[in-house]
Amino acid sequence: MKIPLEKIKSLMWKTKDVRNVGIVAHVDHGKSTLSDVILSEAGYIAKDLAGRLLYLDYLEEEQKRGVTIKTSSISLILKSPSKDYLLNLVDTPGHVDFSGKITRALRLIDGAILVIDAVEGIMSQTEYVLRELIRENVKPILFINKIDRLIREMNYSSSQIQARLEDIIIKYNSLIKTFGKDDWKYYFVDPKNETVLFGSALYRWGFTVKTALEKSIKFDDIIKMVKDDPFSPSKELPLGPLVSRIIYEKLPNPIDAQRKRIPHLWDGQLPEYLLECDPKGATIVYVSKIQYSSGRVLCTARVFSGILKPGTYINLESGDGVKINHVGILLGSNMKIVREVPAGNVVGFVTSKCEVGATLGSEKISGYFKKPSYRVIPVIYVAVTPLYPKDFEKLLELLEKIKLEEQNIEYRINKDTGQILVWGIGELQLELIIKELSEKIKIYTSEPLVSYRETPKNAVRKENDDYIVEIKPISSDSGEMENKIELRGFSTEEKEIIEGIIDSMLKSGPLVGEPVSNAEIVIEKRDKKRKVDINKLIELLTKALIEVKTEISEPYYKFEIVTKPDYMGTIINELTRRGGKIDKIIGEEGDAVSVRGIIPVRMAIGLPSTLRELTHGNAYIQLTFHDYLEVSEKVRESIINEIKSKKGLV
Ligand code: GDP
Repeated sequence: MKIPLEKIKSLMWKTKDVRNVGIVAHVDHGKSTLSDVILSEAGYIAKDLAGRLLYLDYLEEEQKRGVTIKTSSISLILKSPSKDYLLNLVDTPGHVDFSGKITRALRLIDGAILVIDAVEGIMSQTEYVLRELIRENVKPILFINKIDRLIREMNYSSSQIQARLEDIIIKYNSLIKTFGKDDWKYYFVDPKNETVLFGSALYRWGFTVKTALEKSIKFDDIIKMVKDDPFSPSKELPLGPLVSRIIYEKLPNPIDAQRKRIPHLWDGQLPEYLLECDPKGATIVYVSKIQYSSGRVLCTARVFSGILKPGTYINLESGDGVKINHVGILLGSNMKIVREVPAGNVVGFVTSKCEVGATLGSEKISGYFKKPSYRVIPVIYVAVTPLYPKDFEKLLELLEKIKLEEQNIEYRINKDTGQILVWGIGELQLELIIKELSEKIKIYTSEPLVSYRETPKNAVRKENDDYIVEIKPISSDSGEMENKIELRGFSTEEKEIIEGIIDSMLKSGPLVGEPVSNAEIVIEKRDKKRKVDINKLIELLTKALIEVKTEISEPYYKFEIVTKPDYMGTIINELTRRGGKIDKIIGEEGDAVSVRGIIPVRMAIGLPSTLRELTHGNAYIQLTFHDYLEVSEKVRESIINEIKSKKGLV
């Protein structure tokens, strides 16, 4: 395999001839097989190799040179057919997770090929990914795959095949109308304008309405050919060149795409050069993924304006400096170091520290790329203990890495028990983290536990000769843990010490020892000149805290369940049994129904798998953080007992 590095380096400057594209699909619908077709079209895999190949393995030879990086992006040259263009093909996770990985991967691309198995049709996860695509303003085209199955397995006639394909397209477009709102026309597909491809990735053939007409090939001809030999249409209707042309013609170049996308994705002052994808502007880069490898951080990112080269950049949100040591072109498991990469391209770079989801700039700009649209609040945790105490440090190191890669876990050592408590936003996320940890270290883990909070209900005022302490409830609408501390008459050093003391006192509330949230604490020193007597202050604070009455709040998820009408009854029963509150039921076009509402996180544990079982895989559930709400009178007692027994307080 020969990598045309020089050609990639020159084409990346011709922004109009660059496409940043992802292939998305429900599991097993043919994403890897179609990737192979594209890679063989680019000459990265031998053309006559049919079936599934793991293309990343093919680049092993290349790993010996340059930096080894396990990435999911690959740059290649395709024909349009009149000219060559650069395709940055990004792997996008197809499965639903809670960590924002999908959204971050989609941010790299401007267009997508959505692969759909002709027999199975549009699955609930396809819908989820489609919604995310539209949220990120990524334009999809459709590849209806495995048409050979309709012929050989289903034995469909040509009119049955056409009806089946039409069905899929209608369902797809109706989803587009729902998700795309006023902008649905941009995402709409139409077989007549070649935004829908039909074919078989495995047998490497494909066509559009236009190419079939040009070649005067009818469905009956294809049926005959496939029955004879499933490969045979590939002579007249080869898939590789067709996909190459359609990607170039139907998916947007970075300049057109950025004009449309950036206003939705950017928060703050918006420089013109960013909108225009201008390499002459200041450099702005979005970091989509980070991985650790022997002490270095390898990042997958997109250059949205300017030119990325080694140097020091600013994290535009935090203001931190980020030093980039190497910049490179991503080639699957390998990164080829280059001097610079201009706007409009997917890029790899090496640094010593960087946050996933960060926006880096070559100069200070008051704006940055928005975070994924849902709020990420850790509400559920597991206690992890290494089987062998010697692994404790290693476990902490691994967690630190995961924290930096995932960005939304937290961990803390419980001093009393020596366990490490790991917080996350969902059961599935914690499951995946535990799996990753146990592949490297032998560990014990607890069941997932919910993170409760105590919120004050009354105001308290206490004073002595030196200080006045006031504690009041405050409201918060962010769902974040929020406490306000105001210290009057103290020096800066004194303030730091006192804030530390208050923070640690608030970690354990008076009712059941859960953290206190939504409190305002004001401490006034009567005589500014007098030295602080810490013991006296702690004594007064403790007195005040004892008199504060707190109530327990518990986290709620917002749920959205998409299913078929037949399963509605079963799903609603299960939700009601678990204390879920249904807010609306919406009939989507086609035969999908979506149920929305809220449910306590405590009751949502195990819900996705139960629903999958109850509906034989016909329910897709999405859970996102809603808010902390006070527990109801009915369950208060049992929750208090449960927390106390877990903490050994009873
Ligand atoms: P992915 O999970 O979306 O990456 O799907 P894969 O590309 O791994 O394909 C899943 C399975 O479907 C594999 O066994 C493929 O060989 C098979 N497959 C892919 N494309 C076709 C096709 O066009 N026709 C048939 N019959 N099978 C296919």
